[in-house]
Amino acid sequence: MFGEALALSDHRLTEHMTPTVKSDRFGVVSSSTKCHACGEWTPVKALLVRGGQWRNEPDDEDDYWYPIEGAGLLLYVQDVNAEALAIWRNAAPWVRNTPSRTAGISYWSNTCVHCEALQGDWFLTKPDGPFFPTTPELEAKVALDWADGSIEAVANVNEASWLDGLAERMV
Ligand SMILES: [Zn+2]
Repeated sequence: MFGEALALSDHRLTEHMTPTVKSDRFGVVSSSTKCHACGEWTPVKALLVRGGQWRNEPDDEDDYWYPIEGAGLLLYVQDVNAEALAIWRNAAPWVRNTPSRTAGISYWSNTCVHCEALQGDWFLTKPDGPFFPTTPELEAKVALDWADGSIEAVANVNEASWLDGLAERMV
């Protein structure tokens, strides 16, 4: 019975995700940040898509899909297909599904490898944060590893020109 219930819930998870982002090209972006809680440097990694589509409302089948012209970071990832999640978490085992009071949702987020404090997406993407470098020196600290396969997620897409440059450099 237990095994059956597990299999059913796994099935439902994959069947019932109504994504807000889809792309045939994705990768993992790496940087580091100084933890706001303990002050130590800690690695952070996020999913990046290049091309694909996004939409506002996951529940509205008629909602319009917008094209993603260049590269975009996936933020506030509430759900993502199992293959892409495995690739992300193999590279970043400190990424956990964490409830955020600020964001009002649970999402897959970076946590400090020293003290486990949530490194929220809002902090990681503010100017001069690890995922919003504003100088060439800071940009040079960010790396990108492309992954095989496609991605579907319930997430926000953060498109930015520096990401287009990163995606072009890391072929
Ligand atoms: Zn810490």
